[in-house]
Formats: sequence, structure tokens, C-alpha cells
Amino acid sequence: MRVGILGAGQLGRMLALAAWPLGLQPRFYDPVPGGCAAALGPQTVAAWDDLDAVERFCAACDVVTYEFENVPLATVRHAAAFVPLFPAAQALEAAQDRLAEKALFQGLGIGTAPFAAIDGPADFDSALEAVGLPAILKSRRLGYDGKGQVAIRSGVDLERAWQRLGQVPAILEGVVPFERELSLIAVRGGHGDTVFYPLVENQHRDGLLHLSRPIVDAALQRHAQDYAVRLLDRLDHIGVLTIEWFVHGGELLGNELAPRVHNSGHWTIEGAATSQFENHLRAICGLPLGATATTGHSAMVNLISAVPRREALLALPWVHLHDYGKEPRSGRKVGHVTLCTPDEAHAEVALANVLELLA
Ligand code: AMP
Repeated sequence: MRVGILGAGQLGRMLALAAWPLGLQPRFYDPVPGGCAAALGPQTVAAWDDLDAVERFCAACDVVTYEFENVPLATVRHAAAFVPLFPAAQALEAAQDRLAEKALFQGLGIGTAPFAAIDGPADFDSALEAVGLPAILKSRRLGYDGKGQVAIRSGVDLERAWQRLGQVPAILEGVVPFERELSLIAVRGGHGDTVFYPLVENQHRDGLLHLSRPIVDAALQRHAQDYAVRLLDRLDHIGVLTIEWFVHGGELLGNELAPRVHNSGHWTIEGAATSQFENHLRAICGLPLGATATTGHSAMVNLISAVPRREALLALPWVHLHDYGKEPRSGRKVGHVTLCTPDEAHAEVALANVLELLA
């Protein structure tokens, strides 16, 4: 079966690494030549709006998915007219627009940070009154990894931030003094079967994910899964759906949706019976889903800007290195390290060793 992947970055690469053992043949579509996934399958290099090229790509695939959240909706809709495409465009539509995303959460009874739409300066006063301070101005579209966001402490800040974001449609969001940030990775198969990974606690640095660790909290897990099922049903979702949460006052508030495999699920490659990548492929290919049970105590640390000396990393016990084969560049995700140990004591020591080496 030929699996087309829109986007040829590291998520595509890890999907491909999971695809080959299943007898699936990955191929990629990305406007930027030499994507880090391209070592693992042929890449079509064409613009997102080259609909003839999209059509030709689809003709050479049995199923298509996407690994990049900002693929234009028109491209995805066009592709879906020629080939089965999962997850369906409506999930992407919600995930690409922060206002639609918040409205989706709220419409399903899922709490969020206070927010207000800002289309122009005429909305500033009412938005500040509705949301309060401190707040964050976020562009509605094309924001990720903390990009397209400005902290707001006063009305003057808001005017400046609006200019800085380029006067684009935005939302003002109240700052949530959260206790923890979590994410849930849900997978729904082609036959309606659904599995969940354990909730993951995430720590960010400079807007980028730094550390992810699965947690055990039966009550939060139940709540998160209940909310996830509402989203999966509403979106008629097939494939992985990742939901990011703030925990505030012990309650879950929905922050973001990603209708794709997610950085906070990379630990599942070694740390779960079936990885998020394999389960996404199983789902979109109509295959049975695999077990999500953990295989040990896991932690994932992102490698940002450059991969450290591999000899030093691999000398540490329990380390699995994932080097994406990308050129070093400041602020770029170039790889990750997963630790998976048989017990908690080993996990703490192994993580401390890795963090010390990366410091
Ligand atoms: P986002 O791209 O919306 O996920 O934001 C990136 C990171 O900024 C989040 O993971 C949080 O750490 C922080 N952040 C975003 N929105 C808020 C908020 N409303 N309150 C507090 N922290 C936030």
C-alpha cells in the first residue's frame, strides 16, 4: 500500500520509519526540496497550490495523510477528491484557526482560557475587558512553537503587539496560571476503534517543547479521554488526534488540537507497545490498532539547534537517540532522546544524566 504524506519533515520521517516494517511504502509531497523524510521515500517537490502536481501525487498513492499542520486547506480538500485522505479536512480546519479551535472546545463543553477575537483596533477595549490582564495576543493562523504570540501587560502593549503580528486576525487570550501542561494522544481507527496513550506532562523552553513524560493519573486520564471522544466524534476523525491541555485548579482546559502525530508522543517509539506513528498508519490504512501500554518509565528530551556529540550521548545508559538528519540551526528541532527504563529510580538518574549533558 502506498501512503502519501503531505510534508517531509521529521514527523514524516518517523512515520516512514514505522511504515516500512508494515509493508507500507511512504512517499512525500513538500515544496522544500530535500526534506529530512526524503531519505526514506520519494519526494514530490511542488508548491502547495500546484493542484495538478497534487493530483498526480494522489494518483500514485492509495491513501494520503499530512504531517504538517499548515498545509493549505484547499490543497487537502483537492487531494481528498482523488484519494482517501485522513484525518479529514475538518480537523485541520479547526486546528489552523485558533478562534475556531476555541469555539470547538467550548461547543463540546470543554473549558478554555478566556479569549476574545480581535479583527482590528476597534476590538481592543472590549477584548481587554472580556479577557483581563495579563494576556497573550496570538495570530489566529500560522502560529506554532510559540511563534505568532506576544505577551500583553497593558493596553499600550496590545497596540504594539497588533502591529508586530502584522495586523492580522488574532485572538487575545488570558494567561492561565496553570499547574501543569499535559497532552493526550488519541487514535481512532477506520472501523471506529479508539485507543489512548497515557497523558503526557510537557515542559516548554523558549516556546519549544523541551521535556515530555507520561504520567499516571486515573481521574485526569478519564476526563481527558471523555473530552477526546467528544472531539473525535464531532470531527469524524480517523488517525491520531493530539490535544494539549492546561491543568488549572485540578481541571483540564483545552489549549490546542493537532490532527497529527505529535512531538509529545515521540517517547512511544520505545516506550509503548505500539508507537503513535505505527498506530496513525494502522488507522489511516484501515488496519487494526495496536496496544498502547507502556513498556517502562519513559522521558523524551528534544534536541534543539544541534545534536550533541553522539558518543557522549550514547555512553549514557538507557538512551535512544533520534537524529533527524537536519542541518544545525538556532531554535530548530534537530532530534530527540528517549529514555525508557524498567523502574522509576533508573528513570530519574537517566534523565538527570541526559539533562546535565545537554546543559
Ligand atoms: P501554544 O502555541 O498556544 O500552544 O502556546 C505555546 C506555549 O505558550 C504553551 O504550551 C504554554 O506554555 C504557553 N501559553 C500559551 N497560551 C497560554 C495561556 N493562555 N496561558 C498560559 N500560558 C500559555
